[in-house]
Amino acid sequence: MGCLTLNASFEPLTILTARRAVRLVLDCKAEILETDDARWFRSERRSIPYPIVIRLVRFVRVPRQFRRQVTNTFLFARDGYCCQYCGRHRSLLKGRQFLTRDHILPISRGGGNTWDNVVTSCSPCNNRKGDSMPSEVGMKLLCTPRAPNHVQLVWAVRRVTPVQVKYIRMFYGEDALRALTGGNDGIAELLRQSSNQA
Ligand SMILES: [Zn+2]
Repeated sequence: MGCLTLNASFEPLTILTARRAVRLVLDCKAEILETDDARWFRSERRSIPYPIVIRLVRFVRVPRQFRRQVTNTFLFARDGYCCQYCGRHRSLLKGRQFLTRDHILPISRGGGNTWDNVVTSCSPCNNRKGDSMPSEVGMKLLCTPRAPNHVQLVWAVRRVTPVQVKYIRMFYGEDALRALTGGNDGIAELLRQSSNQA
């Protein structure tokens, strides 16, 4: 189980390993807000309760660019783990097929690694498309890709404990939480909301 790490402003930032969280606490860079009292973290010099929520002592500015970086984890979540060309869900892929990141306008032709130029594609569709635009090879996108509401998506793809959820609710409110706790349907709902906002 990871440790939910909050900014000084209480904004949930990320999940760290307990070891890294303890390091921050021992270095006086973070304070412990919640612990798992059933477990203790023992370092060479001392034992401290196992942290499950910590808060950074000083506010960390998170660059907008970093928040919006495209990673396969978030890309696949944004697209509901479905190929955006043939519509197959990850669970329906066969044998050696897998999900990939497809650049609609290929990088070789000047396409960027931006949310509006990348989609989830199964490996056969990606191979078929190659270095072409979808229309050039008779392929069609199921949806127009958009930047997801990144902060919400971060929480959609991570498992959090009830105590950690309390802090996410505190910062983002009840609506965000409801979407997060609804499993894959919840993610789909989040994506609908974030594309409506775009
Ligand atoms: Zn496909």
